[in-house]
Amino acid sequence: MSDGHGRPWALLAELTHGCPLHCPYCSNPLELARRSQELTTDEWRDVLRQAGEYGVVQTHLSGGEPLLRTDLAEIVAAADVAGIYTQLVTSGVGLTEARLGALVDAGLRSVQLSVQHADAARSDRIAGHRAFAAKERAAALIRKTGLPLGVNVVLHRDNLDAVNAIVDLGVAWGAERIELANTQFYGWALRNREALLPSRAQLASAGAVIERRRAELAGTTELVWVVPDYFDGVAKPCMGGWGAVSLTIAPDGTALPCPAASVLPGLDPPNVRDRRLEWIWESSPAFNRYRGTAWMAEPCRSCPRKESDFGGCRCQAYALTGDAARTDPACALSPDHGLVRAVADSPRGAHAQAPLPHPTYDARASPAEPLRGQGEGARAPQDQIPYIYRTPAAGGRTLQPAPPAPRPARHTTPAHTSPPPPGQAPAPPPRKPPELGP
Ligand code: SF4
Ligand code: SF4
Repeated sequence: MSDGHGRPWALLAELTHGCPLHCPYCSNPLELARRSQELTTDEWRDVLRQAGEYGVVQTHLSGGEPLLRTDLAEIVAAADVAGIYTQLVTSGVGLTEARLGALVDAGLRSVQLSVQHADAARSDRIAGHRAFAAKERAAALIRKTGLPLGVNVVLHRDNLDAVNAIVDLGVAWGAERIELANTQFYGWALRNREALLPSRAQLASAGAVIERRRAELAGTTELVWVVPDYFDGVAKPCMGGWGAVSLTIAPDGTALPCPAASVLPGLDPPNVRDRRLEWIWESSPAFNRYRGTAWMAEPCRSCPRKESDFGGCRCQAYALTGDAARTDPACALSPDHGLVRAVADSPRGAHAQAPLPHPTYDARASPAEPLRGQGEGARAPQDQIPYIYRTPAAGGRTLQPAPPAPRPARHTTPAHTSPPPPGQAPAPPPRKPPELGP
């Protein structure tokens, strides 16, 4: 194993970048993979077979919105056959009883459901689409199957003040785990930083609420608080270490040590269409580039924390300094720390301003092509889940308050998904053993 690292135990499978929602913090890259480039069912089967043989024990089936893949149950079944625990990361849009039943039959073990706010109208406004009602129904369906349910919320200026109500919502929906992840400012979130940046007062107040609720809910609901990047001078351990515990496969087969790493210049990430997973993990230059500590410069090189935080996030270092090998500017010891302090101490970060009444975000688009290579008769996703397609992602667009969408014939309102934030190591499987069966 290169650099003394073991094998990966988790795989984030980004099945598509297609998504009905337009979250302003979306962790998908600014340049979205086109739907015609997506791995086929057989290619995913092969990837998952290799992953199982190589020791991967858990996969997050994510996107975009993975329910847009008409072959999702086949992909779940392939993971199950490979001995891999499957967790669906979804907006809940399009999750009918029949669809969920097919996924459970195929071996699905748990579901993470995203929501943007406890208030339906505000949740839909942040998502850029009417989605809350569909999420609510999806939560009820998931609980009915007995699958473990996690609720994910990305926190920012427009919903931090509602964190108590969000916890109430997660409890009411029957979540066993509520993940409250403060926005990490790369990609779309960096583009929307001005609107999303919370104030110190908001963060302090929300943190106190979480502490109180955690004590109240101990033993029943797990509350996870992913700390913000810009405010405490501490760098987070990126992905539990570059190429240390998990890998991401993008919709077009690109293999990445972190979901956001495709932006790093010169990384030249390998592709599962060209290389075996074993070679990708052990020998590819991309997975070895920032593995371990040998690549580090000062101050990380002589820092006692380098084995625990790995010098922070490479994507953030690149986004803010233009050099991915520098110390993450979130760290107070970084010579570039002034870059984040200037933002955190700006009037916007320093003052307890109320959320903007109508924040305007640059919204991500969705690839506008039908699927390819998924078998004869497979219906294009737009037939199943009506949603607004936009032009391919270049630059996104500014979302204004949208007119009400027409009601779909078979499903209710369209909605969204929230994959694990980039830079964050994958969550372990839920505590409760899955209750499967007829
Ligand atoms: S200097 Fe580097 S290793 Fe030390 S705390 Fe900061 S980011 Fe971590
Ligand atoms: S639901 Fe997920 S993939 Fe879709 S726009 Fe929101 S964050 Fe991005």
